[in-house]
Order: sequence, then C-alpha cells, then structure tokens
Amino acid sequence: MTKPHDFETLRTMVASGEIDTVLVCFVDMQGRLMGKRFHAVNFVETSFKETHCCNYLLATDLEMATPSGYASTGWQSGYGDYVMAPDLTTIRPLPWLEGTAMVLCDVLDHHTHEPIPHSPRAILKKQIKRLEAHGLEAKMATELEFFLFTKTLDEIRKDDFRNLEPISGYNQDYHIFQTTKEEGVMRPIRNHLFAAGLPIENTKGEAEAGQEELNIRYSPALDCADYHSIAKHAIKEIAWQHGHAATFLPKWHKDRVGSSSHVHQSLWKNGEAAFFDKSQPHGMSKLMGHYMAGLIKYAPDYVYFLAPYVNSYKRFAKGTFAPTKTVWSVDNRTAGFRLCGENTKGVRVECRIGGSDLNPYLAQAAMLAAGIKGIEDVLALPPATTGDVYVDAQAADIPQTLRAATITLRNSAFLREAMGDDVVNHYTRAAEWEQEEFDRVVTDWEIARGFERA
Ligand code: ADP
Repeated sequence: MTKPHDFETLRTMVASGEIDTVLVCFVDMQGRLMGKRFHAVNFVETSFKETHCCNYLLATDLEMATPSGYASTGWQSGYGDYVMAPDLTTIRPLPWLEGTAMVLCDVLDHHTHEPIPHSPRAILKKQIKRLEAHGLEAKMATELEFFLFTKTLDEIRKDDFRNLEPISGYNQDYHIFQTTKEEGVMRPIRNHLFAAGLPIENTKGEAEAGQEELNIRYSPALDCADYHSIAKHAIKEIAWQHGHAATFLPKWHKDRVGSSSHVHQSLWKNGEAAFFDKSQPHGMSKLMGHYMAGLIKYAPDYVYFLAPYVNSYKRFAKGTFAPTKTVWSVDNRTAGFRLCGENTKGVRVECRIGGSDLNPYLAQAAMLAAGIKGIEDVLALPPATTGDVYVDAQAADIPQTLRAATITLRNSAFLREAMGDDVVNHYTRAAEWEQEEFDRVVTDWEIARGFERA
C-alpha cells in the first residue's frame, strides 16, 4: 500500500515535498465527492481541523440547480455554510494523481457542530449505531458495474451524447480476451485503488459490450460506502486519463443490459458470523431470517435509495438479470434478494435491486434500517421462491417508476421512525424535483413518434 494513511505520515510527506495537494471531500446526495483541493502545507498546519462549504451542496441536483422546497436551506435562508470536518482515519494517497492525498469529511452544522442529519455519511452512521446497540456489526460489499466508451466524456458531450460506442463490440461476461484489450484502463484502476488502501478483489467483464464490474472485499459498512465512493470517482478519473469515458448511468440504451450495484450484506457479533447457524436450513441463522424478512417487507419503502432517478427504473426489465420482484431465492439471479454462501460462514444476502447510480451510504443505511426493523419485530421470512421469478405472478413487484417510489418513500412510517422525518422529507423533495425536471422535458421519442403521425 502506498503512503500516507495517517496524519503523522501525511505531515512527514508534506515536509519532504512528496505530497503537495490534499483533496478535502465529502459525499453529496448523489454520492459524488465534493470539496476543495488544499495546498498540503495549509492542510497539515490548520485546515485539518475543519473547512467550510456552501450548504446548497446537500440540496442540489446532478446539475447543481437550487430547487426550492428544502426545509434545511434555500434562498429564503441565504444558503449559509456547513462545516466540513476531516475524518483523519480516511487519509489516503490517490496514486493516479501526482503528489496528492485525500481525506473524507463529515458534514456538520456551522453553529452547533452537530452532524447534518441528511448528510449521507451521517445517515449511515446513525443506522450503524442502532445496530451496535444490538451488539451487531454489519459487513457489506457493493459491486460497481459501469460501461467504458471509446471516446472521452468531453467528446461525447459535445456530440450531444449520440453515437455512443462502447469500448468492446460484444458481450464480455467473464471474457478474458476482450477484457485483456481493456487492461490499459482496468489495470491502473485495480492497482491505483489497491495502492490507495482499498481491498480490491477483482474486475471482470460484464454481460454487455463494454460493461465492466469491480469487486471490493466486504468491509464494515462505513468503510464499504467510503470505498465505493472513492472507487467510482477513481474509475471516472482514470478512464478520463486514458482517453475513455466511464458511465454509471444504469440504462444508457434501451436494448442494452443496465448496470447495477448489488449489495452483499452480513451481520457479525463479537467477530463471529451472526448469519451462520449450521443447524438451520441453508445454514441461515434465525437472526438472518428476521433481517431478510425486514429487507423484503420494506423494499418498496426504500427502493428510492436504490434507484434515485427516472433512468434508474428503466433497468428493471425482465430477462436482463435485473430484478423486478421483492422476493428471495437461493442462488437465483432473477429474484430481488439472493442468498449466497449457503451453508458456510460466508452465508449472506445479496440485494440485486440497486442500480449503479445508487448512493452507497443511503442504500446501506436504508437496508440496515429495514433489517433492524425485521430483527426488532421478529418478522418471519416467507419461503424462498424458485425458478424464473420474472414470471411469478404471486411475487410482489418493485415500484416501477420514480413517481411510485416517491410515494412509498413519503408514506413510509418505518423510514420516518428509523431515519427521522427531516431526512425522509429531504429526500422526498429530491425525488419530486427529479421527476419535475423530467416532466418539463419534451423527449426525442415523443417527437419522433408523433411529429408526423399524431
Ligand atoms: P460471486 O462470485 O458470486 O460474485 P464473490 O465470492 O465474488 O461472489 O462475492 C461477491 C462479493 O461478496 C464480494 O465483494 C465479497 O467480498 C462479498 N462477500 C463475501 N463474503 C461476504 C460476507 N460474509 N458478507 C458480505 N459480503 C461478503
């Protein structure tokens, strides 16, 4: 692993001139790194304590608009500041950027220094704390799927996102020869992230032309979310450095498979796998059954946190490996929840609903909240489904549109209790705004369909 990984080493490397820049970042509602580039000397002398940012950064959309309707901030309150408080345990080098290290921040109130409730990192920390009160720890892994394109992001944007050409010409699922051709980008992604301290497992080709997957070893939930955000950011930057575009848009073409972010989850007690009980069917402990029952029961409530945009719902198509039903199955990829590692200490549940556009802090927090509710209410797990779940008429559907998911989010008594009204109201507003923006647009499809024939 490349240094630095702690404040003292950073200080030494700044003194010797090896590090000259520190990225001071937090993760926004969309899961992006936002922040400032500090001269490293300033950071180690003073700014390591705190810095500040405009509080619109947790009330904006992908295009940095300033929508009305947020209680936390707005023109009415003049868009003041938040405190960005560096979490010095997250110091790491960014080996793909010369002389550069980074640190992640918690976002605090400018006056009280209390965590901002709707900040993604604070939302996840709250659920981790609730789990700790049960003597439990969550370990998670979020898979990152994305597409690589031949051209750069700038070229693609200047071409109005038309004539998109994936980096390969055919389905490259587990394909070694095709992915060898992509090693110019994928090898630096693996190696730079590993050197930055992320426990990279592997990359592989995915089930569509130009589609890739990166796997990171499962870790405590907060680390997992930090890793995911850094990896997603790095993939875009490293692809850009090599003259290519990487996209995490879940569905970039109607006829192509979408990109997901499956979330593997297990609970641990005193360092032991609390989901494992070899005396029980599939080696699943009773605790795991309750957790999964909560995940399944409340999936409609929290699906917004797995699919936050209009486009996210285009992914949920039959026969594409993206799920459409909120049921579980044993090692069956057509269900929303898949039991993995049956009868082993690695027994875990994989949620397959989330798209590659999810914010890992919000997704994990929502699922932990659902699982905790399942444990606290001792919910019974329905029997596993089998066969092709896509055609199972009995199985409950995932909300099929952002509009439907916004309603289930807004009306979720469970999420209001677990996360707080302020948080649910904040993200409901984000969801509504996204839909309002979409509804204002006249799409190419409408024009082509109706211009002459309507
Ligand atoms: P597959 O080959 O089916 O994709 P893997 O063995 O590669 O399965 O595991 C997929 C992901 O699950 C990896 O990121 C891995 O770190 C993670 N994982 C393995 N064991 C656990 C566990 N006990 N809890 C949570 N995640 C786990």
